[in-house]
Amino acid sequence: MNLDAEVLILGGGCAGLSLAYRLANQPGSPTVILIEARRRYVNDRTWCGWRIEPHPFAHCLVTQWHTLRLRDTGREIEFNCADYPYEMIDAGCFYTSCLSRIDAAGHIERRVGRVAGVDAHRSHLEVSLENGSRLRGRWVVDTLPRPARLVAPWRWQDFAGLEVSSPRLEDTEPTLMDFSIKSEIAEPDQLDFLYRLPIAPGRTLFEWTRFARPASDPHLLEQALHRYLDQLLDGDYRVLRHEHGSLPMAPPSGRPSRAGGRHILAGAYAGAMRASTGYAFHAIQRWSDHCASALSRGEAPRPAPSRRAIAALDRIFMTALERHPPDAAALFCQLFERCPSDALVRFLAGHPSLSDVGRVINSLPKLPLLTAALASVVPNSKSPR
Ligand SMILES: Cc1cc2nc3c(=O)[nH]c(=O)nc-3n(C[C@H](O)[C@H](O)[C@H](O)COP(=O)(O)OP(=O)(O)OC[C@H]3O[C@@H](n4cnc5c(N)ncnc54)[C@H](O)[C@@H]3O)c2cc1C
Repeated sequence: MNLDAEVLILGGGCAGLSLAYRLANQPGSPTVILIEARRRYVNDRTWCGWRIEPHPFAHCLVTQWHTLRLRDTGREIEFNCADYPYEMIDAGCFYTSCLSRIDAAGHIERRVGRVAGVDAHRSHLEVSLENGSRLRGRWVVDTLPRPARLVAPWRWQDFAGLEVSSPRLEDTEPTLMDFSIKSEIAEPDQLDFLYRLPIAPGRTLFEWTRFARPASDPHLLEQALHRYLDQLLDGDYRVLRHEHGSLPMAPPSGRPSRAGGRHILAGAYAGAMRASTGYAFHAIQRWSDHCASALSRGEAPRPAPSRRAIAALDRIFMTALERHPPDAAALFCQLFERCPSDALVRFLAGHPSLSDVGRVINSLPKLPLLTAALASVVPNSKSPR
């Protein structure tokens, strides 16, 4: 059977490019075709998260912080993360670095096109594109976003972000969650907060963020953010960049591995994104390392590791939020106040030890957690919706 390439990577976003970048650098790598719908990449986002391990995109660092804040009315918590800095990675730099490395590698080809489907045959996998062309490969790594329909306790994390410049911006430390904004547009079962990242003197990324189900219109969130900024900065600001997104805070649905392990699902919609936080960039980097090493050894590609204990905790945490929306701010504040920071960071980054998990559980109020645990085991005991 003639193959077009050993590996077909579907989707050239964060996960597809991260994997192809590793394969471009590794000796003994298989031949690859990367299929992406976009013709042109634009600087459409920044990726933030705690760097708990090195990754190859340190040169795309915009800035990093060693202290984070959480705010609620009359309360401010300072969270030290000096051991695992909270970093911001520039997507424009990431895309350029990946594409130039991939294009310089003789064994990787890029195709522009929309994937329509994948068929498994005994000797190969066949990917069909919307333009009618077909590609045959031995392995398929599928990073395409998959539409999700979320049910309780899972929610969407919707956000509208504006990077703004203003002479009135003086803060230097980021606020991870500011619940004191007291949103006028949130329904009682929705949780709104502000995320505020000072990038340089006079330049800050603000994101109006909402945990909700169903997903919210990002334009409404952007309008709320403008009203907030108009008040905060007295209208004295300039918008440098927009970003918005809707991330499913939910575990992946379906099996991560198909066709006897020859077709694997990867990326944010297939287990890389932490259900209770929406962070995915650093988990994608860890997965890319493992998957590229396996492929270079001639082995099958690896899906993201399934972590049942973390998934169970995410469910309990999201159930607690679902059952007590007004207590959500207090729950987050208590967690960041009481939990040792290194353990909490490893937990939020999806890479905790058993004792980290114990410390996180120990820091949370027991009654809401126990009732949520009971509700998640016996969903009808007081089903939220
Ligand atoms: C605005 C924004 C900000 C974010 N910020 C953070 C953050 O700060 N920290 C963090 O950890 N995570 C963040 N995330 C979440 C997550 O890290 C990103 O969504 C990340 O890009 C996910 O990588 P991915 O490869 O799974 O998906 P994507 O990067 O979305 O890649 C999927 C690719 O598939 C392509 N595609 C789609 N359909 C087809 C098709 N039919 N055929 C071919 N190609 C197709 C798309 O064009 C895209 O390039 C953010 C998400 C968004 C949207």
